[in-house]
Amino acid sequence: MSAYKAVIFDRDATLNRTTQILRAGQAAGDKTDGYVLAPHELELFPAVKPALVALRALGVLPFVFTQQNCIGKGLVSADDVAAIHAHMNGILGTAAAIEKFYLAWSVPGQPEDARAKPSPAMILEMMQEYALKPADVLAAGDSMRDYKSARAAGVDFVWIRDDLGRVSEADMQATGCKIYDDVQAMVRDIFPHAPKFAPKPVSGL
Ligand SMILES: [Mg+2]
Repeated sequence: MSAYKAVIFDRDATLNRTTQILRAGQAAGDKTDGYVLAPHELELFPAVKPALVALRALGVLPFVFTQQNCIGKGLVSADDVAAIHAHMNGILGTAAAIEKFYLAWSVPGQPEDARAKPSPAMILEMMQEYALKPADVLAAGDSMRDYKSARAAGVDFVWIRDDLGRVSEADMQATGCKIYDDVQAMVRDIFPHAPKFAPKPVSGL
């Protein structure tokens, strides 16, 4: 039985699609830089909501640690990203809501932000704010910087295969961490005692 009390997820390509985000003037099939710049561009993978419902039903809190360099590039403001995250939680509903989003970004031409991945800063902040120990926390992500951030924080890590294939299978396997196609497959494996489906009211009560 898993002893994790919290799972902290990378956002882009772990929870939401980063390919095929079409903007005005773009033809179908164009690929963008992958940034989600507005709430309507956010497309959660189908596995996300049931996975988060299962975690919350167990009392395991879901968090996000995300690096949005689109802020540093001036494409959006931090408030815009907060609105995207509010929209995400609106889609998820209270039974699957992200407990808190931790956000970092770097600015081109300036030194990398000290909180940016692969720094463990965001994970350490979450552990401090929620009085969690490294053994209480599992991190999930699709990139090598996610992995390095988790390891630097001393927490376990699992891979979620992304929608771009940026990290090779060999590189993921070399870390010794488990690899999953999506977050629901991860939750079913790591938390096998979690409900498979969202709890429903029992009729007749
Ligand atoms: Mg990612």
